[in-house]
Amino acid sequence: MTHYLDNAATTAIRPAALEAMVPLLSEGYGNPSGAHRMARAANRVLDDARETMASVLGAEPGQIVFTGGGTEADNLAITGVVERLGGVPVCSAVEHHAVLEPVEYHGGRVVDVTPTGIVDLDSLTDALDEDVSVVSVMVANNETGVIQPLSDIVTLVREYAPRALIHTDAVQALCWLDLSTVATEVDLLSISAHKFGGPKGVGALVVRNRAEPTALLKGGGQERGRRGGTHNVAGIAAMAVAAAETAEERPVAVPRVAALRDRLADGISAELDGVHESGVVPATDAATTASGPVDRSGKTANICHLCFDGIESEALLFLLEKEDIMASAASSCSSGAMEPSHVLAAMGYDRALAFGSLRLSLGYSTTDADVEAALRVVPAAVRRLRERG
Ligand code: PLP
Repeated sequence: MTHYLDNAATTAIRPAALEAMVPLLSEGYGNPSGAHRMARAANRVLDDARETMASVLGAEPGQIVFTGGGTEADNLAITGVVERLGGVPVCSAVEHHAVLEPVEYHGGRVVDVTPTGIVDLDSLTDALDEDVSVVSVMVANNETGVIQPLSDIVTLVREYAPRALIHTDAVQALCWLDLSTVATEVDLLSISAHKFGGPKGVGALVVRNRAEPTALLKGGGQERGRRGGTHNVAGIAAMAVAAAETAEERPVAVPRVAALRDRLADGISAELDGVHESGVVPATDAATTASGPVDRSGKTANICHLCFDGIESEALLFLLEKEDIMASAASSCSSGAMEPSHVLAAMGYDRALAFGSLRLSLGYSTTDADVEAALRVVPAAVRRLRERG
């Protein structure tokens, strides 16, 4: 039996989302840009999906731009604003490559983080001035789960870079945080369906306030000229179903998954020496010690990210896979590369420790059995690698 603990890389599609897709591929396949009744029906599907996404994200339907996933939404936010306004983009050093690379491409500034992985507010203030046109800081990190203090960041940006728009990459956040309340002050927000039980290759950018990024994909004028290309109607409909279900289940899913994650992290840490859990702080009171010796309240509920002294994660992942545990060393996009994670480097981890990282990421479909299997296999595998030297 496969134990899938790589939900930050991607999730299983929710059955209701899959069910919504099939008839739109086989029967209701009209092109929503057309004029006949099949086209109009497809357009109504888009309208409904747009309304659902707006309500889940705390936006107006007209502020939702459907995209081909999170990478495109991030690129549209950064490049689209720089093309519209000129100026300098700014982002944190722990952003996903989908943000970092466009920021670096446009000659932007990259802001330091603390050892816990939170944006260093002094470094941010230093990077802000009248030239800055867009500032991008993610809601939650894909490797560590660390949640950024968005309200503080928004306050600083509005004060020190008054013309800048604020973007947040919320791709990893929608399952665990209510974006209709935590990210309402930002101008631009990216999400991606396959991280919350929707299909791959579909996402959205919320475009609020004065923001109007220049379209990256120019063509048929879809999405009111903000993103050309025939709509992925079935994918968009499935994304809306997955988002609504995720939001509805969130109050139950978050404590359930957090308890599983805590059991996993505490269990592995109790079995081994030389385990370093990212993004946590020592617990200070009874409330935070209830789940163990560390306070994980600054992280999303689903991520157990550990670095082990004296091993290399590539070898660890190999042993885990042999025991049917699917996990990851860092972000899905950089595993396989021989460079240590840029996120851990920014947090000050030394190279050797960063090479010994393991991300076990839980999701809506994670069960007790998955956690039990990891608790049985991970400590034994780490010990074996250490014995081998
Ligand atoms: N941003 C973050 C934080 C991510 O974790 C990912 C995917 O791993 C992306 C952006 C890219 O999203 P997509 O896979 O939909 O292109």
